[in-house]
Amino acid sequence: MNQTIPHWLEKQFELNPNRPAIEFENGEVLTFSELRKESRQAAAGMKELGVKAGDHIALLVTNSRQAPIFIHAFSYIGAVGVMLNTRLTPTELAFQLEDAEVTSLFAEESLYQQGKEAIQTTSLTQKDFHTLEDCPRLSEESELKSTLHLEDPFTMMYTSGTTGQPKAVVHSYGNHWFSAISSALNLGLSSHDKWLLCLPVFHVGGFSILMKNVIYGMPISLFASFDEDKVNQQILHNQVTIVSVVTVMLQRLLDNLEERFYPSAFRCMLLGGGPAPKPLLEEAHDKSIPVFQTYGMTETSSQISTLSPGDAFRKVGSSGKALHTADLIVEAEKPGEVGEILVCGPMVSDGYYKHQERKSPWLRTGDLGYLDEEGFLYIVDRVKDVIISGGENVYPAEIESVLTGIRGVKEAGVAGVQDNQWGEVPAAFLVMEPEAEADVKEMYEYCTLHLAKFKIPHSFHVVKELPRNASNKILRRKLTDTLKDGE
Ligand code: ATP
Ligand code: MG
Repeated sequence: MNQTIPHWLEKQFELNPNRPAIEFENGEVLTFSELRKESRQAAAGMKELGVKAGDHIALLVTNSRQAPIFIHAFSYIGAVGVMLNTRLTPTELAFQLEDAEVTSLFAEESLYQQGKEAIQTTSLTQKDFHTLEDCPRLSEESELKSTLHLEDPFTMMYTSGTTGQPKAVVHSYGNHWFSAISSALNLGLSSHDKWLLCLPVFHVGGFSILMKNVIYGMPISLFASFDEDKVNQQILHNQVTIVSVVTVMLQRLLDNLEERFYPSAFRCMLLGGGPAPKPLLEEAHDKSIPVFQTYGMTETSSQISTLSPGDAFRKVGSSGKALHTADLIVEAEKPGEVGEILVCGPMVSDGYYKHQERKSPWLRTGDLGYLDEEGFLYIVDRVKDVIISGGENVYPAEIESVLTGIRGVKEAGVAGVQDNQWGEVPAAFLVMEPEAEADVKEMYEYCTLHLAKFKIPHSFHVVKELPRNASNKILRRKLTDTLKDGE
Protein backbone atom coordinates (compact mmCIF):
# COMPACT_ATOMS: atom_id res chain seq x y z
CA MET A 1 0.00 0.00 0.00
CA ASN A 2 1.23 3.50 -0.75
CA GLN A 3 1.80 5.08 2.66
CA THR A 4 2.44 8.57 1.34
CA ILE A 5 -0.26 11.24 1.31
CA PRO A 6 -0.21 14.88 0.20
CA HIS A 7 0.76 17.21 3.06
CA TRP A 8 -2.57 17.90 4.79
CA LEU A 9 -2.19 21.65 4.83
CA GLU A 10 -1.14 21.69 1.16
CA LYS A 11 -4.31 19.74 0.48
CA GLN A 12 -6.49 22.27 2.30
CA PHE A 13 -4.73 25.03 0.38
CA GLU A 14 -5.77 23.27 -2.81
CA LEU A 15 -9.33 22.48 -1.67
CA ASN A 16 -10.39 25.29 0.67
CA PRO A 17 -7.85 28.12 0.56
CA ASN A 18 -10.24 30.86 1.67
CA ARG A 19 -12.18 28.91 4.27
CA PRO A 20 -11.64 30.09 7.87
CA ALA A 21 -9.22 27.69 9.54
CA ILE A 22 -8.58 29.14 12.99
CA GLU A 23 -10.52 31.76 14.92
CA PHE A 24 -8.82 33.35 17.90
CA GLU A 25 -10.37 34.90 21.00
CA ASN A 26 -9.56 38.42 19.81
CA GLY A 27 -11.64 37.87 16.69
CA GLU A 28 -8.71 37.34 14.32
CA VAL A 29 -9.27 34.60 11.73
CA LEU A 30 -6.62 32.72 9.75
CA THR A 31 -7.76 31.09 6.52
CA PHE A 32 -6.20 27.80 5.42
CA SER A 33 -4.17 29.73 2.88
CA GLU A 34 -2.84 32.08 5.58
CA LEU A 35 -2.17 29.26 8.02
CA ARG A 36 -0.21 27.46 5.31
CA LYS A 37 1.76 30.55 4.39
CA GLU A 38 2.76 31.39 7.97
CA SER A 39 3.61 27.76 8.76
CA ARG A 40 5.84 27.55 5.69
CA GLN A 41 7.55 30.81 6.57
CA ALA A 42 8.25 29.57 10.10
CA ALA A 43 9.53 26.25 8.69
CA ALA A 44 11.92 28.07 6.38
CA GLY A 45 13.08 30.17 9.34
CA MET A 46 13.67 27.07 11.49
CA LYS A 47 15.69 25.55 8.66
CA GLU A 48 17.77 28.69 8.56
CA LEU A 49 18.49 28.12 12.28
CA GLY A 50 19.75 24.64 11.42
CA VAL A 51 16.69 22.44 12.05
CA LYS A 52 16.74 19.34 9.83
CA ALA A 53 14.45 16.44 9.00
CA GLY A 54 14.47 13.86 11.79
CA ASP A 55 15.65 16.32 14.49
CA HIS A 56 13.82 16.23 17.80
CA ILE A 57 12.65 19.77 18.43
CA ALA A 58 10.93 20.65 21.70
CA LEU A 59 8.09 23.13 21.71
CA LEU A 60 7.13 25.00 24.88
CA VAL A 61 3.91 26.82 24.02
CA THR A 62 0.54 27.75 25.41
CA ASN A 63 -2.55 27.74 23.16
CA SER A 64 -1.24 30.82 21.42
CA ARG A 65 -1.51 31.95 17.81
CA GLN A 66 2.02 30.64 17.23
CA ALA A 67 1.29 27.10 18.46
CA PRO A 68 -0.44 25.68 15.34
CA ILE A 69 1.95 27.55 13.05
CA PHE A 70 5.04 25.95 14.59
CA ILE A 71 3.43 22.53 14.85
CA HIS A 72 2.76 22.58 11.10
CA ALA A 73 6.25 23.99 10.52
CA PHE A 74 7.69 20.75 11.97
CA SER A 75 5.79 18.74 9.40
CA TYR A 76 7.04 20.92 6.52
CA ILE A 77 10.61 20.11 7.63
CA GLY A 78 10.07 16.51 8.73
CA ALA A 79 11.29 17.30 12.25
CA VAL A 80 9.75 15.53 15.26
CA GLY A 81 7.91 17.88 17.60
CA VAL A 82 8.38 17.12 21.29
CA MET A 83 5.41 18.77 22.99
CA LEU A 84 6.24 20.03 26.47
CA ASN A 85 3.73 20.64 29.24
CA THR A 86 4.06 24.30 30.28
CA ARG A 87 3.14 23.42 33.87
CA LEU A 88 6.22 21.26 34.42
CA THR A 89 9.03 22.47 36.69
CA PRO A 90 12.44 23.23 35.10
CA THR A 91 13.75 19.92 36.51
CA GLU A 92 10.88 17.98 34.95
CA LEU A 93 11.37 19.79 31.65
CA ALA A 94 15.10 19.07 31.74
CA PHE A 95 14.38 15.36 32.21
CA GLN A 96 12.15 15.32 29.12
CA LEU A 97 14.62 17.33 27.02
CA GLU A 98 17.38 14.83 27.78
CA ASP A 99 15.21 11.73 27.62
CA ALA A 100 13.75 12.69 24.23
CA GLU A 101 17.21 13.58 22.87
CA VAL A 102 16.08 17.05 21.91
CA THR A 103 18.51 19.10 19.82
CA SER A 104 16.77 22.49 20.07
CA LEU A 105 14.09 24.08 22.17
CA PHE A 106 11.62 26.64 20.81
CA ALA A 107 9.67 28.51 23.47
CA GLU A 108 7.08 31.23 23.46
CA GLU A 109 8.51 34.59 24.60
CA SER A 110 6.35 34.49 27.76
CA LEU A 111 7.92 31.12 28.69
CA TYR A 112 11.50 32.21 28.01
CA GLN A 113 12.61 32.12 31.65
CA GLN A 114 11.15 28.64 32.16
CA GLY A 115 12.95 27.35 29.06
CA LYS A 116 16.22 29.02 30.04
CA GLU A 117 16.16 27.42 33.49
CA ALA A 118 15.26 24.04 32.00
CA ILE A 119 18.24 23.87 29.66
CA GLN A 120 20.77 24.65 32.47
CA THR A 121 21.13 21.01 33.47
CA THR A 122 20.91 19.56 29.95
CA SER A 123 23.38 19.27 27.09
CA LEU A 124 21.50 22.07 25.27
CA THR A 125 23.23 25.44 25.12
CA GLN A 126 21.89 28.94 24.60
CA LYS A 127 22.44 28.61 20.85
CA ASP A 128 20.01 25.66 20.79
CA PHE A 129 17.33 27.73 22.49
CA HIS A 130 15.07 30.06 20.51
CA THR A 131 11.93 32.00 21.12
CA LEU A 132 9.18 31.67 18.54
CA GLU A 133 9.08 35.44 18.25
CA ASP A 134 12.79 35.56 17.34
CA CYS A 135 12.66 32.69 14.86
CA PRO A 136 13.02 34.26 11.40
CA ARG A 137 10.08 34.11 9.00
CA LEU A 138 11.42 33.57 5.50
CA SER A 139 9.60 33.66 2.24
CA GLU A 140 9.17 30.23 0.82
CA GLU A 141 12.50 29.71 -0.90
CA SER A 142 13.75 26.66 0.94
CA GLU A 143 12.55 23.20 0.01
CA LEU A 144 9.65 22.08 2.15
CA LYS A 145 7.82 18.78 2.28
CA SER A 146 4.81 18.43 0.02
CA THR A 147 3.95 14.90 1.15
CA LEU A 148 3.73 13.04 4.45
CA HIS A 149 4.75 9.44 4.95
CA LEU A 150 2.30 7.79 7.33
CA GLU A 151 4.94 5.69 9.07
CA ASP A 152 7.25 8.62 9.82
CA PRO A 153 7.31 9.97 13.36
CA PHE A 154 5.65 13.37 13.78
CA THR A 155 5.32 14.02 17.52
CA MET A 156 6.49 12.86 20.90
CA MET A 157 4.27 13.51 23.91
CA TYR A 158 4.80 12.41 27.47
CA THR A 159 2.11 10.54 29.34
CA SER A 160 0.81 12.44 32.36
CA GLY A 161 2.86 10.51 34.94
CA THR A 162 -0.20 9.58 36.99
CA THR A 163 0.97 6.06 37.76
CA GLY A 164 4.74 6.64 37.66
CA GLN A 165 7.40 8.37 35.59
CA PRO A 166 5.95 9.94 32.39
CA LYS A 167 6.81 7.96 29.23
CA ALA A 168 7.55 9.47 25.81
CA VAL A 169 4.95 8.28 23.31
CA VAL A 170 6.03 8.50 19.66
CA HIS A 171 3.18 9.26 17.24
CA SER A 172 3.51 8.77 13.51
CA TYR A 173 1.64 10.85 10.92
CA GLY A 174 -0.48 7.75 10.40
CA ASN A 175 -1.44 7.61 14.09
CA HIS A 176 -2.74 11.19 13.93
CA TRP A 177 -4.36 10.64 10.53
CA PHE A 178 -6.30 7.55 11.62
CA SER A 179 -7.25 9.16 14.91
CA ALA A 180 -8.89 12.06 13.06
CA ILE A 181 -10.56 9.86 10.43
CA SER A 182 -11.89 7.39 13.00
CA SER A 183 -13.34 10.18 15.11
CA ALA A 184 -15.18 11.54 12.06
CA LEU A 185 -16.56 8.10 11.27
CA ASN A 186 -18.05 8.08 14.77
CA LEU A 187 -19.23 11.67 15.25
CA GLY A 188 -19.91 12.41 11.60
CA LEU A 189 -18.80 15.60 9.94
CA SER A 190 -20.95 18.51 8.88
CA SER A 191 -19.99 21.52 6.80
CA HIS A 192 -21.37 23.62 9.71
CA ASP A 193 -18.98 22.15 12.24
CA LYS A 194 -16.75 24.36 14.32
CA TRP A 195 -14.73 22.70 17.08
CA LEU A 196 -13.70 24.72 20.10
CA LEU A 197 -10.19 23.96 21.35
CA CYS A 198 -9.76 24.91 25.00
CA LEU A 199 -7.64 21.94 26.14
CA PRO A 200 -3.87 22.48 26.11
CA VAL A 201 -2.36 21.74 22.70
CA PHE A 202 0.62 19.98 24.30
CA HIS A 203 -1.67 17.14 25.39
CA VAL A 204 -2.93 14.75 22.79
CA GLY A 205 -6.59 15.68 23.37
CA GLY A 206 -5.94 19.31 22.40
CA PHE A 207 -3.36 18.49 19.75
CA SER A 208 -5.77 16.14 18.00
CA ILE A 209 -8.13 19.06 17.32
CA LEU A 210 -5.35 20.82 15.39
CA MET A 211 -5.05 17.65 13.31
CA LYS A 212 -8.81 17.47 12.68
CA ASN A 213 -8.65 21.11 11.64
CA VAL A 214 -6.29 20.43 8.72
CA ILE A 215 -7.41 16.89 7.89
CA TYR A 216 -11.14 17.72 7.71
CA GLY A 217 -10.77 21.32 6.54
CA MET A 218 -12.95 22.24 9.53
CA PRO A 219 -12.78 25.65 11.25
CA ILE A 220 -11.71 25.62 14.89
CA SER A 221 -11.85 28.25 17.58
CA LEU A 222 -8.56 28.31 19.52
CA PHE A 223 -8.79 29.51 23.11
CA ALA A 224 -5.74 30.50 25.14
CA SER A 225 -7.20 28.81 28.20
CA PHE A 226 -10.46 27.51 29.57
CA ASP A 227 -12.96 30.06 30.81
CA GLU A 228 -16.46 28.71 31.43
CA ASP A 229 -18.22 31.96 30.65
CA LYS A 230 -16.39 32.48 27.36
CA VAL A 231 -16.86 28.86 26.31
CA ASN A 232 -20.58 29.03 27.08
CA GLN A 233 -20.80 32.26 25.06
CA GLN A 234 -19.15 30.50 22.10
CA ILE A 235 -21.64 27.65 22.25
CA LEU A 236 -24.63 29.91 22.81
CA HIS A 237 -23.77 32.65 20.31
CA ASN A 238 -20.82 31.77 18.06
CA GLN A 239 -22.00 28.62 16.24
CA VAL A 240 -19.57 26.24 17.96
CA THR A 241 -20.90 22.72 17.37
CA ILE A 242 -18.35 20.56 19.24
CA VAL A 243 -16.21 21.11 22.35
CA SER A 244 -13.70 18.74 23.96
CA VAL A 245 -13.55 18.96 27.75
CA VAL A 246 -12.38 17.16 30.86
CA THR A 247 -14.62 16.57 33.89
CA VAL A 248 -13.80 19.71 35.86
CA MET A 249 -14.50 21.87 32.80
CA LEU A 250 -17.92 20.29 32.29
CA GLN A 251 -18.78 20.97 35.92
CA ARG A 252 -17.83 24.61 35.55
CA LEU A 253 -19.76 24.97 32.28
CA LEU A 254 -22.87 23.57 33.93
CA ASP A 255 -22.58 25.82 36.97
CA ASN A 256 -22.16 28.81 34.68
CA LEU A 257 -25.00 27.82 32.34
CA GLU A 258 -27.64 28.14 35.07
CA GLU A 259 -31.10 28.13 33.49
CA ARG A 260 -29.91 28.56 29.91
CA PHE A 261 -29.94 25.80 27.29
CA TYR A 262 -27.53 25.18 24.44
CA PRO A 263 -28.84 25.64 20.88
CA SER A 264 -29.78 22.50 18.96
CA ALA A 265 -26.88 23.06 16.52
CA PHE A 266 -24.51 22.28 19.39
CA ARG A 267 -24.11 18.57 18.82
CA CYS A 268 -21.28 17.22 20.96
CA MET A 269 -19.60 17.79 24.29
CA LEU A 270 -16.73 15.31 24.06
CA LEU A 271 -15.79 14.37 27.61
CA GLY A 272 -12.64 12.41 28.37
CA GLY A 273 -9.31 12.23 30.13
CA GLY A 274 -10.52 10.76 33.40
CA PRO A 275 -13.44 9.37 35.35
CA ALA A 276 -16.71 11.28 35.19
CA PRO A 277 -18.81 11.24 38.38
CA LYS A 278 -22.35 10.02 37.85
CA PRO A 279 -24.08 13.05 39.44
CA LEU A 280 -22.33 15.28 36.88
CA LEU A 281 -23.41 13.14 33.92
CA GLU A 282 -26.98 13.12 35.23
CA GLU A 283 -27.00 16.89 35.60
CA ALA A 284 -25.77 17.28 32.00
CA HIS A 285 -28.40 14.80 30.86
CA ASP A 286 -31.12 16.82 32.64
CA LYS A 287 -29.99 19.89 30.72
CA SER A 288 -30.19 17.97 27.40
CA ILE A 289 -26.46 18.41 26.81
CA PRO A 290 -25.18 15.81 24.34
CA VAL A 291 -22.23 14.54 26.39
CA PHE A 292 -20.27 11.85 24.55
CA GLN A 293 -17.99 10.15 26.98
CA THR A 294 -14.75 9.11 25.40
CA TYR A 295 -11.87 6.93 26.48
CA GLY A 296 -8.34 7.30 25.26
CA MET A 297 -4.77 8.00 26.28
CA THR A 298 -1.62 9.56 24.95
CA GLU A 299 -0.68 6.16 23.48
CA THR A 300 -3.87 6.04 21.38
CA SER A 301 -3.43 9.56 19.94
CA SER A 302 -6.60 10.65 21.86
CA GLN A 303 -9.96 8.82 21.45
CA ILE A 304 -10.02 5.04 21.02
CA SER A 305 -13.60 4.44 22.13
CA THR A 306 -16.46 6.94 22.24
CA LEU A 307 -20.21 6.99 22.60
CA SER A 308 -21.94 7.75 19.34
CA PRO A 309 -24.65 10.38 18.80
CA GLY A 310 -27.47 7.83 18.85
CA ASP A 311 -26.41 6.40 22.21
CA ALA A 312 -25.37 9.52 24.15
CA PHE A 313 -28.56 9.72 26.22
CA ARG A 314 -29.26 5.98 26.31
CA LYS A 315 -25.90 4.90 27.69
CA VAL A 316 -24.95 7.62 30.16
CA GLY A 317 -21.73 6.60 31.94
CA SER A 318 -20.39 4.44 29.12
CA SER A 319 -17.43 5.30 26.90
CA GLY A 320 -19.16 3.63 23.96
CA LYS A 321 -17.50 1.22 21.57
CA ALA A 322 -14.11 1.11 19.89
CA LEU A 323 -13.99 3.58 16.99
CA HIS A 324 -14.01 2.31 13.44
CA THR A 325 -10.50 1.02 12.56
CA ALA A 326 -9.86 0.26 16.27
CA ASP A 327 -10.56 -2.79 18.37
CA LEU A 328 -10.96 -3.27 22.07
CA ILE A 329 -11.19 -6.29 24.37
CA VAL A 330 -11.61 -6.72 28.10
CA GLU A 331 -9.48 -9.47 29.53
CA ALA A 332 -11.96 -11.10 31.89
CA GLU A 333 -12.98 -14.66 32.58
CA LYS A 334 -16.63 -14.14 31.81
CA PRO A 335 -18.44 -11.59 29.63
CA GLY A 336 -19.56 -8.60 31.66
CA GLU A 337 -16.84 -9.00 34.29
CA VAL A 338 -14.22 -6.39 35.07
CA GLY A 339 -10.81 -6.91 33.48
CA GLU A 340 -7.90 -5.05 31.90
CA ILE A 341 -8.71 -3.21 28.66
CA LEU A 342 -6.56 -4.03 25.63
CA VAL A 343 -6.74 -1.89 22.49
CA CYS A 344 -5.35 -1.98 18.99
CA GLY A 345 -5.70 0.05 15.82
CA PRO A 346 -3.78 2.33 13.50
CA MET A 347 -4.05 5.27 15.93
CA VAL A 348 -2.19 3.31 18.62
CA SER A 349 1.47 4.31 18.88
CA ASP A 350 4.06 1.58 18.23
CA GLY A 351 5.71 2.32 21.54
CA TYR A 352 7.64 4.61 23.82
CA TYR A 353 10.84 6.30 22.73
CA LYS A 354 13.94 4.22 23.42
CA HIS A 355 11.81 1.34 24.72
CA GLN A 356 11.37 -1.89 22.83
CA GLU A 357 8.58 -1.82 20.25
CA ARG A 358 5.50 -3.70 21.36
CA LYS A 359 5.50 -7.20 19.88
CA SER A 360 1.75 -7.68 20.00
CA PRO A 361 -0.67 -5.39 18.12
CA TRP A 362 -2.60 -5.13 21.40
CA LEU A 363 -1.70 -2.42 23.88
CA ARG A 364 -2.30 -3.24 27.53
CA THR A 365 -3.84 -0.02 28.82
CA GLY A 366 -3.44 -0.55 32.57
CA ASP A 367 -7.11 0.41 32.85
CA LEU A 368 -9.95 -1.76 34.06
CA GLY A 369 -13.38 -1.87 32.51
CA TYR A 370 -16.27 -4.08 31.55
CA LEU A 371 -18.55 -4.46 28.53
CA ASP A 372 -22.31 -4.54 29.01
CA GLU A 373 -24.54 -7.01 27.16
CA GLU A 374 -24.59 -4.75 24.10
CA GLY A 375 -20.80 -4.40 24.06
CA PHE A 376 -20.61 -0.87 25.49
CA LEU A 377 -17.49 -0.11 27.49
CA TYR A 378 -17.58 1.17 31.07
CA ILE A 379 -14.27 2.29 32.56
CA VAL A 380 -13.87 1.16 36.14
CA ASP A 381 -10.43 2.33 37.28
CA ARG A 382 -6.70 1.83 36.88
CA VAL A 383 -5.20 -1.58 37.63
CA LYS A 384 -2.56 0.05 39.85
CA ASP A 385 -5.12 1.85 42.04
CA VAL A 386 -7.32 -1.12 42.97
CA ILE A 387 -7.66 -1.62 46.74
CA ILE A 388 -7.96 -5.22 47.84
CA SER A 389 -9.94 -5.26 51.04
CA GLY A 390 -10.72 -8.60 52.69
CA GLY A 391 -10.31 -10.32 49.31
CA GLU A 392 -12.74 -7.95 47.53
CA ASN A 393 -11.65 -5.55 44.78
CA VAL A 394 -12.50 -1.97 45.66
CA TYR A 395 -12.31 0.69 42.94
CA PRO A 396 -11.45 4.20 44.18
CA ALA A 397 -13.17 5.88 41.21
CA GLU A 398 -16.55 4.40 42.21
CA ILE A 399 -16.21 5.70 45.77
CA GLU A 400 -15.01 9.12 44.55
CA SER A 401 -18.04 9.34 42.29
CA VAL A 402 -20.35 8.73 45.29
CA LEU A 403 -18.46 11.16 47.53
CA THR A 404 -18.78 14.01 45.04
CA GLY A 405 -22.55 13.57 45.31
CA ILE A 406 -22.43 14.68 48.99
CA ARG A 407 -23.55 18.26 49.51
CA GLY A 408 -20.55 20.53 50.16
CA VAL A 409 -17.93 18.15 48.76
CA LYS A 410 -15.99 19.83 45.96
CA GLU A 411 -13.39 17.18 45.14
CA ALA A 412 -12.75 13.67 46.40
CA GLY A 413 -9.84 11.26 46.21
CA VAL A 414 -9.69 7.72 47.55
CA ALA A 415 -6.69 5.50 48.29
CA GLY A 416 -6.01 2.34 50.25
CA VAL A 417 -4.42 2.31 53.71
CA GLN A 418 -3.01 -0.69 55.55
CA ASP A 419 -5.39 -2.45 57.92
CA ASN A 420 -4.64 -5.39 60.23
CA GLN A 421 -8.01 -7.03 59.75
CA TRP A 422 -8.75 -6.43 56.04
CA GLY A 423 -5.28 -5.99 54.56
CA GLU A 424 -6.23 -2.65 53.05
CA VAL A 425 -9.21 -0.35 53.49
CA PRO A 426 -10.32 2.74 51.55
CA ALA A 427 -9.63 6.19 52.99
CA ALA A 428 -11.35 9.31 51.65
CA PHE A 429 -9.68 12.69 51.11
CA LEU A 430 -12.04 15.57 50.58
CA VAL A 431 -11.83 19.18 49.52
CA MET A 432 -14.91 21.03 50.76
CA GLU A 433 -16.69 23.97 49.13
CA PRO A 434 -15.59 27.26 50.73
CA GLU A 435 -18.47 27.65 53.19
CA ALA A 436 -19.30 23.97 53.67
CA GLU A 437 -18.80 22.04 56.91
CA ALA A 438 -17.67 18.41 56.86
CA ASP A 439 -20.00 16.22 58.90
CA VAL A 440 -18.32 12.81 58.99
CA LYS A 441 -21.36 11.05 60.44
CA GLU A 442 -23.54 12.39 57.61
CA MET A 443 -20.93 11.39 55.03
CA TYR A 444 -20.73 7.90 56.43
CA GLU A 445 -24.51 7.56 56.33
CA TYR A 446 -24.62 8.81 52.73
CA CYS A 447 -22.05 6.18 51.79
CA THR A 448 -24.03 3.39 53.46
CA LEU A 449 -26.95 4.29 51.16
CA HIS A 450 -24.84 4.15 47.98
CA LEU A 451 -22.02 1.68 48.59
CA ALA A 452 -21.63 -1.92 49.74
CA LYS A 453 -20.16 -2.16 53.25
CA PHE A 454 -16.65 -3.17 52.16
CA LYS A 455 -16.40 -0.06 49.93
CA ILE A 456 -17.25 2.48 52.61
CA PRO A 457 -14.20 4.58 53.55
CA HIS A 458 -12.88 3.81 57.03
CA SER A 459 -11.69 7.37 57.45
CA PHE A 460 -12.57 10.78 56.01
CA HIS A 461 -9.88 13.46 55.82
CA VAL A 462 -10.59 17.05 54.89
CA VAL A 463 -7.64 18.54 53.01
CA LYS A 464 -7.00 21.93 51.39
CA GLU A 465 -6.19 20.40 48.02
CA LEU A 466 -5.62 17.02 46.43
CA PRO A 467 -2.17 16.17 45.06
CA ARG A 468 -2.33 16.54 41.28
CA ASN A 469 0.17 16.26 38.42
CA ALA A 470 0.84 18.84 35.72
CA SER A 471 -2.17 17.47 33.81
CA ASN A 472 -4.35 18.17 36.85
CA LYS A 473 -4.99 14.47 37.48
CA ILE A 474 -5.26 13.23 41.06
CA LEU A 475 -2.14 11.38 42.19
CA ARG A 476 -3.78 8.73 44.34
CA ARG A 477 -0.40 7.25 45.28
CA LYS A 478 0.36 10.55 47.04
CA LEU A 479 -2.96 10.96 48.86
CA THR A 480 -1.84 9.04 51.93
CA ASP A 481 1.35 11.12 52.26
CA THR A 482 -0.70 13.71 54.12
CA LEU A 483 -1.43 11.07 56.80
CA LYS A 484 2.29 10.39 57.24
CA ASP A 485 2.85 14.13 57.64
CA GLY A 486 0.50 13.89 60.61
CA GLU A 487 -2.32 16.01 59.12
P1 ATP B 1 0.77 7.64 33.03
O1 ATP B 1 0.51 6.72 31.89
O2 ATP B 1 2.08 8.33 32.92
O3 ATP B 1 0.53 7.04 34.38
P2 ATP B 1 -1.80 8.84 32.37
O4 ATP B 1 -2.22 7.45 32.07
O5 ATP B 1 -2.68 9.64 33.28
O6 ATP B 1 -0.31 8.86 32.95
P3 ATP B 1 -2.66 10.05 29.90
O7 ATP B 1 -2.25 9.38 28.65
O8 ATP B 1 -2.70 11.54 29.91
O9 ATP B 1 -1.62 9.64 31.02
O10 ATP B 1 -4.07 9.58 30.37
C1 ATP B 1 -4.72 8.43 29.90
C2 ATP B 1 -5.49 7.77 31.02
O11 ATP B 1 -6.57 8.61 31.48
C3 ATP B 1 -6.15 6.48 30.64
O12 ATP B 1 -5.25 5.39 30.59
C4 ATP B 1 -7.20 6.34 31.73
O13 ATP B 1 -6.65 5.84 32.94
C5 ATP B 1 -7.63 7.80 31.96
N1 ATP B 1 -8.87 8.04 31.20
C6 ATP B 1 -9.00 8.52 29.96
N2 ATP B 1 -10.27 8.58 29.58
C7 ATP B 1 -11.00 8.11 30.61
C8 ATP B 1 -12.39 7.90 30.86
N3 ATP B 1 -13.32 8.20 29.96
N4 ATP B 1 -12.76 7.39 32.05
C9 ATP B 1 -11.85 7.08 32.98
N5 ATP B 1 -10.52 7.24 32.82
C10 ATP B 1 -10.10 7.75 31.65
MG1 MG C 1 -1.15 5.94 31.09
